[in-house]
Amino acid sequence: MEETVPTITKTTCPYCGVGCGILATVGADGTLAVRGDPDHPANFGRLCSKGSALAETVDLEGRLLFPEIDGRRAGWDEALDRVAETFSRTIAEHGPDSVAFYVSGQLLNEDYYVVNKLMKGFIGTANIDTNSRLCMASSVAGHRRAFGADTVPGSYRDLELADLVVLVGSNLAWCHPVLYQRLAAAKAERPEMKVIVVDPRRTMTADIADQHLAIAPDGDVALFNGLLAHLAEAGALDENYIAEHTTGFAEALAAAWRLDMDGIAAETGLDRASIAEFYRLFAATEKVVTVYSQGVNQSSVGTDKVSAIINCHLATGRIGRPGMGPFSVTGQPNAMGGREVGGLANMLAAHMDIDNAADRERVQRFWRAPVITSAPGLKAVDMFRAVADGRIKALWIMATNPVDSMPDGDMVETAIRACPFVVVSDVVGETDTVRHAHVKLPAAAWGEKDGTVTNSERRMSRQRPFLPRPGEAKPDWWIVTEVARRMGFAEAFPYASPAEIFAEHAALSAFENHGTRDFDIGAHAGIDAAGFDALAPFQWPARAGETPADDIRFFAEGGFFTPDRKARLVPVTTMAPARTSEGFPLVLNTGRVRDQWHTMTRTGKSQRLSQHLAEPFVEIHPADAATYGIADADLVRVTSARGAIVVRALLTSRQREGSIFVPMHWTDQFAADGRVDRLVPPIIDSTSGQPALKHVAVRIARFTAAAYGFAVLTGKPKRIAADYWAIARCEGGWRVELAFANAVADWPAVADAILPGVPDADTLSFQDAVAARRRFARFVGERLIGALYLAAEPVAVPRDWVVEQLSQAHADQRARLAVLAGRPGKGGEDKGAIVCSCFGVGVRQIAGAVVAGCHTVEAVGDALLAGTNCGSCRAEIRSIIHAHRLQAAE
Ligand code: SF4
Repeated sequence: MEETVPTITKTTCPYCGVGCGILATVGADGTLAVRGDPDHPANFGRLCSKGSALAETVDLEGRLLFPEIDGRRAGWDEALDRVAETFSRTIAEHGPDSVAFYVSGQLLNEDYYVVNKLMKGFIGTANIDTNSRLCMASSVAGHRRAFGADTVPGSYRDLELADLVVLVGSNLAWCHPVLYQRLAAAKAERPEMKVIVVDPRRTMTADIADQHLAIAPDGDVALFNGLLAHLAEAGALDENYIAEHTTGFAEALAAAWRLDMDGIAAETGLDRASIAEFYRLFAATEKVVTVYSQGVNQSSVGTDKVSAIINCHLATGRIGRPGMGPFSVTGQPNAMGGREVGGLANMLAAHMDIDNAADRERVQRFWRAPVITSAPGLKAVDMFRAVADGRIKALWIMATNPVDSMPDGDMVETAIRACPFVVVSDVVGETDTVRHAHVKLPAAAWGEKDGTVTNSERRMSRQRPFLPRPGEAKPDWWIVTEVARRMGFAEAFPYASPAEIFAEHAALSAFENHGTRDFDIGAHAGIDAAGFDALAPFQWPARAGETPADDIRFFAEGGFFTPDRKARLVPVTTMAPARTSEGFPLVLNTGRVRDQWHTMTRTGKSQRLSQHLAEPFVEIHPADAATYGIADADLVRVTSARGAIVVRALLTSRQREGSIFVPMHWTDQFAADGRVDRLVPPIIDSTSGQPALKHVAVRIARFTAAAYGFAVLTGKPKRIAADYWAIARCEGGWRVELAFANAVADWPAVADAILPGVPDADTLSFQDAVAARRRFARFVGERLIGALYLAAEPVAVPRDWVVEQLSQAHADQRARLAVLAGRPGKGGEDKGAIVCSCFGVGVRQIAGAVVAGCHTVEAVGDALLAGTNCGSCRAEIRSIIHAHRLQAAE
């Protein structure tokens, strides 16, 4: 019999803005394998832990498979009719500004293009914004006011070619891991290359840094203004570039003089010597790339931070040449694409300007649209305010979870719940947002979608389908097209495939362009289905008639997209106001962790990814912890003026004193009280509208519990009656952390509520009345189906060993009693917290290898395999080696 050759599909990772190429292979038995595409210019075969675990996230558990109206299953026709009729009626009764779309950087360009066209050209409002507003709107605003367009001037290759890479507000090691690996590899090859990290936290990224500047929150404008002044004093300016290609230098420099070195030290919280060393190195190095990300953007002065950075590059002419330039890296897989199609409320399609009458007329003419929006629409924070006060009466949320990601999350949830008509198109059937939808529309997921995405270096790549769409799931572009047709716009929405939409998007980008706009992919305007299928990753611009190139850069010779083709240096002096007070003395910073993505709807399915950090946590400096009487692994209540959450304490001197950090990922689906967005006030940057997600005044206090628990279960727990709980996938099932504020009178009842109820199950239990400990282990045959450990103090069983027991056979009573005791028997091993997700290697194993003589990351890899696959944990391995060697030396 002939053997079937598995099909390999070239596609793109759906997570971060690095945009790695992936080879997806579906075997004859339907199993999926993914690996990095060696030919993709973003990653050359590398993948991080999240990308490597993609195959674990495509199951159908929790998928929304059929349309629903008011909680009942409906057919597509009925659901689409309901959406179109309600939107049309609302517009007729209250005007176009009474409806809104809140969309997502997870959408493909083709999805994004049609929804933007529908709103801005046919409904006639710009009330469409995207969760990219939370991610890089300040970079967009900073680019536009400096360059006249939202242009990222450089390429990833520049990070490898630079002699100095300055990372500002960017935990590249965890948030853009493959780009970090490229940088780390370049530095290993050329040790003379310098890396400086500017970040309040000493993140894993700082492990390759020659200098870490633990800057005060929002001190960046002062730091880079000071740098501009120093460059002038040191004679490091490029006078010719300034004269020929820029305006506004004198004003920007005058603003930069505002602070002397003492003032800069005061506003940045850095010592003078460290600042001087940074300035000296920057001035002396021609090839400098400044990478910035959410630490810059998510601020009430984010746009000014971007301008302060760009000013330094313009003043030195270090832009658009190999190894030089300011470089914004985006969080989401298609944040860049959203900007290209005009997915933000203040942008028009194809990088045209909503405030420019000629651009509006051009887009309207191209679309043959009956109307064109005449003004910017509501940006995300204002949009949900308008939902709350009733101005928005019909809201469509696509592929995003604003209840968990927007600031003032409780207000956002209340607003959505009260909105007269809410449509959510999503792949997940139950999220903190989906549960409030009147109409739920099942969207195609990664692996089923067909279209393009654009990464942080302007590279467009195909996402290709390799799995059948389950149930009645449909692509987002199809859903929007069908609604547009039902609203009376059939002629303008004739699309039968994403290729047709991409061709139109490309044609619009080139329409009356003549080099006056940066975004031009006119080379693909005539693309057909076969061409779209075969489309290889390419960087824009890709103008018709020009030879395709790679590592295309902008602005080495000027040519900005302003009326006089000169860049604008923008004088910036703004300081973020101090927010702390006696009642809220600490600054809360929010962000990402290595192995989770956004609100965990996808990465939360992977046991491999969930074992890295299995609970919501707060990083606290040991000195602050001592002040507030908090010990490592205590539960902590974090309170702001908006609300409170309860998370696990993680004490680390990587955290700056006076600041704490809580990750953004945990939702009501994974923890009792871990939604950090409910603490964040809706303070925004006045130019970009981006919320200040990294500067929130809070206080902390130990959460005192009368009892604690830890459980492992084969099935997802349904109801958890505990004051604190957090669940995470693990091998063979789920793991659960618990705490009870009050003493529990009936432990067996707690056990029965949590452990799986299976007839014929055999439950062992143990009670130590003196020490107030109870343990339960439930078996069916040889299989453990659940174990629960309860105690008056935090439960001290080895978590990873207990988790492993779910996958073991327990034939004899000794093995069962070991599970009940929560102690590895003879020969058992406690790995400790998992560091290497790919090979399941724990911190104790790595520490053991270090003690045994493995003193480099490579040696640990040789001994344990840890860090030898995706490489995302290499920075942590390095820090474990360092910590143990320091300990040994003491
Ligand atoms: S760095 Fe990781 S998450 Fe980002 S695109 Fe690449 S594989 Fe995906």
